[in-house]
Amino acid sequence: MSDPNGVVPTIAAIRAAVSAAKATGRTVALVPTMGALHAGHAELIRAAQRRAGFVVVSIFVNPTQFGPTEDFGKYPRTLDADRALCAEAGADSIFAPSAAEMYPGGFGAFVEVPKLDGVLCGARRPGHFRGVCTVVLKLFHIVRPDIALFGAKDAQQSIILKKMVRDLDVPVEMQIEPTVREADGLAMSSRNRYLSPAERGLAPRIFAALQSVRSRAGAGERDVAALRAGLHSDLAAIPGARVDYAEILDAESLETTDRLAKPALAAAAVFLGGTRLIDNLILGD
Ligand code: AMP
Repeated sequence: MSDPNGVVPTIAAIRAAVSAAKATGRTVALVPTMGALHAGHAELIRAAQRRAGFVVVSIFVNPTQFGPTEDFGKYPRTLDADRALCAEAGADSIFAPSAAEMYPGGFGAFVEVPKLDGVLCGARRPGHFRGVCTVVLKLFHIVRPDIALFGAKDAQQSIILKKMVRDLDVPVEMQIEPTVREADGLAMSSRNRYLSPAERGLAPRIFAALQSVRSRAGAGERDVAALRAGLHSDLAAIPGARVDYAEILDAESLETTDRLAKPALAAAAVFLGGTRLIDNLILGD
């Protein structure tokens, strides 16, 4: 990082840093995060660094994307470790604003992508994607990146944000990077640290259930109801698990489909104890 000690807390200061980089002809990449960074975030930062001359990582636990009973208060905040990871992965600047900087008193404009946010996590977490879209559009206006990078782990988020960018003519290239996993298949997540050792031992079964759907689809099963039922029962068989959803939807429109014809998104959200984990795989790619 050009200034490894510098975490930029204000909109004015990150704008100035980006303008200075642009003035020297550098392209700008943005990696939006909520911090508690792990190897999945590091891959996004490395991919950004390969594409752009100036990489901004934003770290902001965005209050507007958490529901009233969700984990906003206890979401892990690990800024010192995050700074080290950003420096190691090649970030040039960390934008870490306060909630008051992003949402000053009287704030009242929101961005929504209504149809796509009515399923999967959007259906279970009302207002979540409205919060995500609003903060990401604000970050785009603040940082003015040429490229923005997101992870395939949050598949619905990527689909919704791409739609927002298209429909609102936001001049940014969206790049989606593959899900980074632990050696046993568990998708890396800042929330994995909430898991007890026993839950951590069971958590890879979520990915195993998704892989099993993919092999059944690969072996020729086209009936989406049968595939969905198999996915749901594999997830429900994880001891102590509560399946929030297990769905197979069109990978672009997120509409329901009876037969697998086009690429489909197999997506699951599962509670292990109090921790909600999500994961997904594309079928028929
Ligand atoms: P978060 O900090 O969890 O909001 O995530 C910030 C960005 O990192 C989002 O674009 C996520 O999709 C992405 N991300 C989170 N976990 C992973 C992972 N295991 N692999 C790849 N990208 C990830």
